[in-house]
Amino acid sequence: MNNANNTNFKSGFISIIGRPNVGKSTLLNALIGSKVSIVSEIPQTTRFQVRGILNMENAQIVFVDTPGIHSFKKSFIQHLNTVAKKSIEGIEGILYVVDVSREPGEEEEDIMRFVASAGLPTIMAFNKIDTGGENEEDFRKLWQTVLKETQKPDPVRKYIRISALKGKNLDELKEALLDLLPAGHPYYEKDTLTDFPLKFRISDIIREKLFYFLKKELPHSVAVEIETIEDRSENEKGLIYISAIIYVNRDSQKKIIIGKGGQLLKKVGSLAREELEQIFNKKVYLELFVKVVKDWQKSPRILRELGYWWT
Ligand code: GDP
Ligand code: MG
Repeated sequence: MNNANNTNFKSGFISIIGRPNVGKSTLLNALIGSKVSIVSEIPQTTRFQVRGILNMENAQIVFVDTPGIHSFKKSFIQHLNTVAKKSIEGIEGILYVVDVSREPGEEEEDIMRFVASAGLPTIMAFNKIDTGGENEEDFRKLWQTVLKETQKPDPVRKYIRISALKGKNLDELKEALLDLLPAGHPYYEKDTLTDFPLKFRISDIIREKLFYFLKKELPHSVAVEIETIEDRSENEKGLIYISAIIYVNRDSQKKIIIGKGGQLLKKVGSLAREELEQIFNKKVYLELFVKVVKDWQKSPRILRELGYWWT
């Protein structure tokens, strides 16, 4: 860590916040420059889930997840202030990502309330501008409404229109993020990319494939829990066994995800398996189950398993 004594060096923690499928993982991969590799065994040095680390010549940005901000209807609103306070202690700033290819909905409003109450320096990234970005104005308006309602000053330092997929305006975004960081030494060795737990990385891949096939049909209330990861290489040459549960709220959603004759789930499984085999560099056997749990968003056990809460 040669840069530790360099007084020009900046470092800090930035929380990436945004609804599922707005492009957070894509953006992280684009910023860090390679697929986030799995380094699951690094002991957690912070209570945050580190999603990735961006090393620059004179700075290190540690991107983290902020659990507990997902939309849990009433309980979410009720606990907004305590959750907001607790989950962002020690964070320098927020990278708030919205998807301008979709209309902002109720869930977006909840997240905006969170960002507004957090009051941390924030960069608001309008992602997917390559799609035309027709909803940008609606997001801006909603944001102003939420600010008025929460009666807080606007924490947004910069609004940036980006495309994580096409790599558009990402240098500008990096610059804006750097402006949020204080002077400081790097927190991690340079070759560390992420210590995001393996389970969450796998569930992310499965959710990404679900989104790929379902797009706007994908229910917001879908969640993927990894139940088992077992290395069965010893008895079945080079095999990793993974089983995952896809939670939905209603039978109708289960039907959509399974598809006619099970076709959709099959395709999801096989795409996910291919990607997992690349990551593990081993054969993977992936089993997917779809489970209807009416209010899984209210089940502490499921939420904990999904990493939404820390205990
Ligand atoms: P996350 O749930 O927020 O991590 O979202 P992902 O990174 O998994 O992205 C969800 C989907 O949006 C994927 O199919 C991405 O390819 C797509 N996506 C992400 N960024 C962009 C973008 O800038 N433009 C377009 N058109 N699609 C994007
Ligand atoms: Mg993701």
